[in-house]
Amino acid sequence: MKADPQDQLRLLQVQDCDSRLAQLNHRNKNLPEAQALREAQQRQEQVHDDLVRAQTAASDLASEVARAESDVQQVRERMARDQKLLDSGEIADPKQLTSLQHELSSLVKRLADLEDVELEVMERQEAADNTVAALQQDQGDVDSRIAELVEQVDALRASIAHERAGVEAERSAATEGLPADLLGLYEKIRADHDGVGAAPIYRGRCEGCRLQLPPQEIEQARAAAVDEVLRCEECRRILVRTPESGL
Ligand SMILES: [Zn+2]
Repeated sequence: MKADPQDQLRLLQVQDCDSRLAQLNHRNKNLPEAQALREAQQRQEQVHDDLVRAQTAASDLASEVARAESDVQQVRERMARDQKLLDSGEIADPKQLTSLQHELSSLVKRLADLEDVELEVMERQEAADNTVAALQQDQGDVDSRIAELVEQVDALRASIAHERAGVEAERSAATEGLPADLLGLYEKIRADHDGVGAAPIYRGRCEGCRLQLPPQEIEQARAAAVDEVLRCEECRRILVRTPESGL
């Protein structure tokens, strides 16, 4: 293939733009902030699920506490009634009196048991409320972390998009008027060779595969017409001669 030496040099500018675009795409896809955001969003879901569970448990315990309080209250009222009856002196029948005293003493024991239950349920409720409060705190923290990360990721993506638009404009200026066959060959090689289709010879080395050209190839490059499109024998990329080629 033949191509004007200036066009061959311009291919290096196109390559430079393409390499920068590839870097920008890679950066855009691998933003650590975006990864942190995904992790924070997973954490947010987890905290949300935990919070729903904890709130359900706390609400169940609140009902249990209310039930325990009502049980205690009922026994207290019954004891007060019995005591009042006892104190009134209205019961003359000794059997009835004994039975009432029995009932009172068994109510005292029952009250103690119920108060133990009440206390235990209240302690559990307090623990559940603390869990809810801690999870609400976590939720607030993760929400603000997400808001912060969303802002960072948006800003980074906008800056990358801006940079990309600049490089794309640079690239289209560099490709303008380039022969279609040269650009086509470059694109084809670039697609198969890790995004690098054209490379300069730098001090006798192919900058595509970074291998020193064998003396015979140097000789051929030296002898080739300036408009001859050279290819690296090793990596098959287009080789462009520059003042730094060392030929
Ligand atoms: Zn090479």
